[in-house]
Amino acid sequence: MAARILVTNDDGIHSAGLRTLVEHLCEDFEVLVVAPEREQSAVGHSITLHKPLRMQPASIAGLPVKAFQTNGTPADCIVLGMLADLGGADLVVSGINAGANLGEEIFYSGTVSAAAEAAIQGLPAFAISVADREQPNFAPAGEFARHLAHVVLDIGLPAGSLLNVNVPNLPADEIRQAKVTRLGKRSYANKLEQRTDPWGRPYYWFSGQPEEVDSGSGTDIGAIADGHISITPVHIDITDYSLLEKLQAQEERLAIKLTEGVGDGQRHG
Ligand code: MN
Repeated sequence: MAARILVTNDDGIHSAGLRTLVEHLCEDFEVLVVAPEREQSAVGHSITLHKPLRMQPASIAGLPVKAFQTNGTPADCIVLGMLADLGGADLVVSGINAGANLGEEIFYSGTVSAAAEAAIQGLPAFAISVADREQPNFAPAGEFARHLAHVVLDIGLPAGSLLNVNVPNLPADEIRQAKVTRLGKRSYANKLEQRTDPWGRPYYWFSGQPEEVDSGSGTDIGAIADGHISITPVHIDITDYSLLEKLQAQEERLAIKLTEGVGDGQRHG
């Protein structure tokens, strides 16, 4: 029996990247799609607690797959997709995102967070993005996703691990072989631009381009710049183990005697 793949994304169920991914995966696998009804880029790992989650049958351009659209986030879609009556999944694939998810961008990315949620739920998963937001060429990434799905189902992933895959936005015959990488660093300069609204009040708008501060050898950013597909293994345990030891040496210093004090009841955050 064909393995079952749960597909989601953060660009919305009607995005071209998701359709291309499903087209390729359904050649070899049984595919279930649970995806947001509209774009949710940069929602990170948020989940919906304060409104009802809805899920409605949808169709992916006539492809032979079971699909649902939801008003939830990408992470919600994973939890919804694991509802018992949908039949479960052997692997989760999130994407194909329009735009790279490199370095610390993975913390903001809904695409990567869906794969992280799958890892939390105990399912092997990968996120896949094409490194261009405006004119992404999805087909080579779709073909690679299908190949990688076979490899991941074959070798398995350790509990809590996921793969973050980026594909350069090049014609298929110019894309170089996959490299296994670590996360580089991109810091955003001039992060907030202050403007003034018609009533004279200031408001702020995210702006600025990433400045790559670690795009060297072995990084995801470097691999993409060199035309390679990048695969970064990521773990949901983000404990800083080297700082943990240093901080443990300070536990005595952190051990103060706590009192009820004044103003209690005002300070709950
Ligand atoms: Mn997106």
